[in-house]
Amino acid sequence: MSNLPYIVGNWKMNGLRAMLTEARAIDRSAARYPKAQVALAPPTTLIFRLRDACAVIGVGGQDCHSEESGAYTGDVSAAMLKDAGSDFTIVGHSERRAIHGETDSTVKAKAEAALAAGLGVIVCVGETEDERDAGKALKIVSKQLDGSLPKGEGVAERLTVAYEPVWAIGTGRVPSIEDIAAMHQSIRKTLDKIYTDAGSDIRILYGGSVKADNASEILAVSEVGGALVGGASLSAESFLAIVGAACAEIDD
Ligand code: PEP
Repeated sequence: MSNLPYIVGNWKMNGLRAMLTEARAIDRSAARYPKAQVALAPPTTLIFRLRDACAVIGVGGQDCHSEESGAYTGDVSAAMLKDAGSDFTIVGHSERRAIHGETDSTVKAKAEAALAAGLGVIVCVGETEDERDAGKALKIVSKQLDGSLPKGEGVAERLTVAYEPVWAIGTGRVPSIEDIAAMHQSIRKTLDKIYTDAGSDIRILYGGSVKADNASEILAVSEVGGALVGGASLSAESFLAIVGAACAEIDD
């Protein structure tokens, strides 16, 4: 497991072939930032093309089905993502949980399928605004981790956790630095409990309105091991500014 800051772009349902220009620009510049691990999760239709076009960055899916194959119209299995050239997949993004009704156990099954297919996996967790306002954020996220994370030998090495407060995604709002720190400490404790020694190497990404102008401050927080970036990953310029901030953080 790398301990470099991990900066992952989630393109969500954005990107036609023309977006390969951005991916190529990101890939070219990533070669100049060896102190960060950079990856993109484009829509499934572009995975194969990104794999072909990019030499340095990781390429991954945004979701996978928990079954390997079968009568699941419109779904994509982890084995298919792998076959298309993916290195990893995201599972449990709050948009999947909210729009597609995915529960912790669905997310766990998907994460297990991803690992079984030989992929790395980024498991997303995060509280809603009501849960935060009610003072339940730490408890809710800890419960999500307990229910969503795959367990067992060798899992920790291929696992990344992304903390993404639902209310911060795509809104331009971010938690205070103190709240990010408290949440990441709490997630670390849960990972240590579940994976014992191996838990300390699992990177915990922060996600939710990360931009060039707040990346340095967020990435400097203890236990923040990188960022999961939505909107700002759609242009090479804004995404690379975040990658640059991650590397500057190491140099300081
Ligand atoms: C995301 O969707 O994972 C995300 C963090 O989005 P944004 O950066 O746009 O808030």
